[in-house]
Amino acid sequence: MNLVLLGPPGTGKGTIAKFIEVRFGTDHISTGDLLRQEVAEKTQAGKHIEPMMNSGQLVEDGLVLRILRKKLGSLKGKSFVLDGFPRNINQGKLLEKLLSDMCLELDLVLEIDSPQDIIVKRLSARRQCVKCMRIYGLDVPSTVPGICDDCGSPTVLRKDDEPQVVRERLRLYGSITKPLSEFYQKKGLIRRIDGNRSLQEIFGEVEKVLSVYA
Ligand code: AMP
Repeated sequence: MNLVLLGPPGTGKGTIAKFIEVRFGTDHISTGDLLRQEVAEKTQAGKHIEPMMNSGQLVEDGLVLRILRKKLGSLKGKSFVLDGFPRNINQGKLLEKLLSDMCLELDLVLEIDSPQDIIVKRLSARRQCVKCMRIYGLDVPSTVPGICDDCGSPTVLRKDDEPQVVRERLRLYGSITKPLSEFYQKKGLIRRIDGNRSLQEIFGEVEKVLSVYA
């Protein structure tokens, strides 16, 4: 079961992807995390993309695709949940080509949505571990504020979760990413999930939907 999670930043896609990973054994692939890893390791690509990521701009399609191709190649047949890719129609087409080249198929696109004011509130409360990159938020806070439960490193507000950057990311989502909803609707792949509920309710619905494919 290979999935794409679609939806604006701050709708809990990462948390939902982790739930799916644990429940169904799929691999969670977050292009945002893969790119942040490049930045943290100060690779050539990382140095190039850091300012774009900090200001909420999208990184070039070709660069993200290269990183994604490498990651998919390392899965060795394991199914996956894509979180953060595709981000525009061109990436949607690139993904089709990539999967077909790798003899893989996309089974379903789950689109999660929430009202904007809730998103801004969630993102400004969100913290990420500087080392292992685990995300904490209103729904899942760390036990000791500011300290990661898993590795004991500090958790911080990401630069791209600052309010003015969040507004830019939401604007980009509406104009560039949202059209993918129709793109996948036409292919009969989309299933919409209301993200403005408790995590337990969302997990329950996701589990029901995906049990058909498991
Ligand atoms: P995310 O963690 O998915 O919100 O992504 C954080 C940032 O990484 C985005 O604001 C972009 O700068 C970059 N990014 C992640 N995925 C992509 C993608 N598919 N295409 C272009 N840029 C991306």
